[in-house]
Amino acid sequence: MSDQDPVIVVGAGIVGTATARALQRAGHSVTLLDSAEPGRATSFGNAGFLSLDSLIPLARPSTLKSLPKMLTDRTGPLTLHTPSLPWLLPWMARFALAALSPAEVQKGKDSLKALMIEADIAWKAEIQASGLGELFQTKGALYVYESEAAFLATDEMRGLQAGKGTDFEIVDGNRARELAPGLSPHIVRGIHYPNGTHTINPFRVVETLAERFTVDGGTILRGRVRGFGRDGNRVTSVQITDRSLPAKAVVIAAGRASGELTRLLGFNAPLVAERGYHVMVAPDNLRFDLPVSPPERGLFFTPMQEGLRIAGTVELAAPHQPPSWQRADLLIKHLKDIFPGVGGAEQSRWIGERPTLPDYRPAIGRAPRLANVYCSYGHQHLGLTLATASGRLIARQMEGETLPEAFVGVDPGRFG
Ligand SMILES: Cc1cc2nc3c(=O)[nH]c(=O)nc-3n(C[C@H](O)[C@H](O)[C@H](O)COP(=O)(O)OP(=O)(O)OC[C@H]3O[C@@H](n4cnc5c(N)ncnc54)[C@H](O)[C@@H]3O)c2cc1C
Repeated sequence: MSDQDPVIVVGAGIVGTATARALQRAGHSVTLLDSAEPGRATSFGNAGFLSLDSLIPLARPSTLKSLPKMLTDRTGPLTLHTPSLPWLLPWMARFALAALSPAEVQKGKDSLKALMIEADIAWKAEIQASGLGELFQTKGALYVYESEAAFLATDEMRGLQAGKGTDFEIVDGNRARELAPGLSPHIVRGIHYPNGTHTINPFRVVETLAERFTVDGGTILRGRVRGFGRDGNRVTSVQITDRSLPAKAVVIAAGRASGELTRLLGFNAPLVAERGYHVMVAPDNLRFDLPVSPPERGLFFTPMQEGLRIAGTVELAAPHQPPSWQRADLLIKHLKDIFPGVGGAEQSRWIGERPTLPDYRPAIGRAPRLANVYCSYGHQHLGLTLATASGRLIARQMEGETLPEAFVGVDPGRFG
């Protein structure tokens, strides 16, 4: 290893690719390494929403309270892949502990707020720097509620959003139907975020970042990481199937598989696959152009370049399990319930694995006990939103900067 060697970023999803861009801009020579083409894993099929006002971690008491009902309803927003249960139990125990600890929940809120402020700035800069303008639209976003009780349960979230300075408007059912024509008459409330931004093609965003990275002198290599060369507390090389690549520093950004790599490096990343699905339809009678989410159902309807994407819900599972395609069928049912007049032929369906740590906070920053290894994984439902901010934070740490106190909640060393 020498200072002439590149920084190797492992994983070319949205997180790794955005990190490679940030490091390149900071003046590093960077190699982006992936066993597949950039953007083909979880970053391919998300709902495309920059969820900059998600300010409460999902590991919180109210999620825990609603778990029994959610888990017994196979058509609900959250389910378990039953054969994975023994594998999931330790993660679930850690999740319960985090959700019940006021200090952990507070750390989640503090770090999410700090990350979201950074993410807003970072996306605006990256859209400009990488010429992504045509792939993003600021049409607003609309959350819709099927009961007054569900709307009232958003009280804390709205308080935090108001505290952050988010622009939003509480609307009744009729106004919600004006904002998203075709919405079912049973919707009683909505929250409209006029500045909501979404991408109309999440895969193309990664692809464009990767293209710009190469044009600006970065190297993209194909290879599965199998090990690391070490000299004391420094990693000196990354081993792929047929060779060893010298590295000045390494960033682990391999999504759900990151835990397999951190184990090789001697620290823990207890990630599960929070599986989500999407269905693309060529819609008939689509009359809205902003993302709409019924949060009680855990999904988004996002108008995209190639049709309407219905994306979301959660199925907790161990890695490498076969998909449960009935979860995708369910998305079509949700479309019929929420937009009864919108029909359309199904174009494709997809499954993705959100990389999720038990406290629902990502791990961003320097790895424990290692001098030149950095982490950026565990972005769960927010990987698109937080990718550019994560990249900038890694670049700042690599320059020797100590991150502000608010980011202590995302320290990768918290799992030992
Ligand atoms: C249905 C659904 C809807 C979503 N909607 C949104 C949304 O609207 N907004 C939002 O912000 N987020 C959303 N998300 C979450 C977001 O998509 C993820 O958080 C994000 O894609 C994770 O990105 P990543 O780069 O960490 O992982 P990935 O995209 O999975 O990339 C990891 C990469 O690492 C590579 N890799 C793994 N192991 C190795 C190895 N050993 N060697 C080499 N390469 C390796 C893989 O091949 C892969 O390319 C959604 C997710 C789902 C499933």
